[in-house]
Amino acid sequence: MSFLKGKRGLVFGVANDRSIAVAIAKEAVSQGATCGFPYLPGEKNERRVSKALEDIGLAGAWLFPCDVSKDADLDACFAAAREKFDTIDFVVHSLAFADRTWLKPGNFHETPRDAFAQAIDVSAYSLVAIARRAKAMMPNGGSILAMTYYGSQKMIPGYNVMGVAKAALEACTRYLAGELGQFGIRVNTISAGPLRTLSAMAVGGIDEIFTWIEKKAPLHRNITQEEVGRTAAFLLSDQAGAITAENIFVDAGYNAVGL
Ligand code: NAD
Repeated sequence: MSFLKGKRGLVFGVANDRSIAVAIAKEAVSQGATCGFPYLPGEKNERRVSKALEDIGLAGAWLFPCDVSKDADLDACFAAAREKFDTIDFVVHSLAFADRTWLKPGNFHETPRDAFAQAIDVSAYSLVAIARRAKAMMPNGGSILAMTYYGSQKMIPGYNVMGVAKAALEACTRYLAGELGQFGIRVNTISAGPLRTLSAMAVGGIDEIFTWIEKKAPLHRNITQEEVGRTAAFLLSDQAGAITAENIFVDAGYNAVGL
């Protein structure tokens, strides 16, 4: 099956070989898609991103430095993407940031204003800023997908301000879906169970969460990057043509557990 044959898209959020964005890109490409990769500027970062893409057979893929908290970077990125791809069919938003100082169990109530604002800006507002620019490149409709976590809906010690940012991200998804549906653009989130990535390691107490999931989730195991990649590729494709404003859990069923 090649259900993304001929589709082109931008995948934000590759940092290294463990990034969820890499697993999503790998699956999308295996289904026939062509992907371009905006990445957080920085020489070291560029080397790691190139290496991660090389490892999945995407050496020479289109890369563009883009700090999503800067409008000028986003404008330059989308102008360059237009030159390269003309139109696109999908965007993956697989990025987030919060100062790890404020991701420790027990210190959410101490979060300073600037750390709170930065987490929401990078992790949630960026989806709105990206969707607005992506719309102009999606004359035939498209699919926008963002990554979230259950800490948006329930209090998970240590997830703290990132939980607030993810709640904002999920709300942004619904409002964007409501407004962009008339243009044939679908907007969804995947709520993934915990995965050992660079970002996840910043969350205090993450090891306990992995153990707890094994004990309590209906499938009694943690999930894999590949499982997220497969669900993402489906949501990016026309196979998911009637799915929008939705949050799909890829979490071994953990969100359904009460006790
Ligand atoms: P990751 O560290 O590999 O990816 C995070 C990405 O965000 C990196 O590529 C980083 O460069 C990018 N980023 C941060 N600030 C940025 C900025 N200002 N401009 C541009 N890019 C910026 O970690 P990941 O776990 O693959 O995270 C991807 C997404 O998945 C995030 O939204 C994360 O919250 C979400 N998520 C992760 C888990 C998990 O357990 N790992 C679970 C559910 C959801």
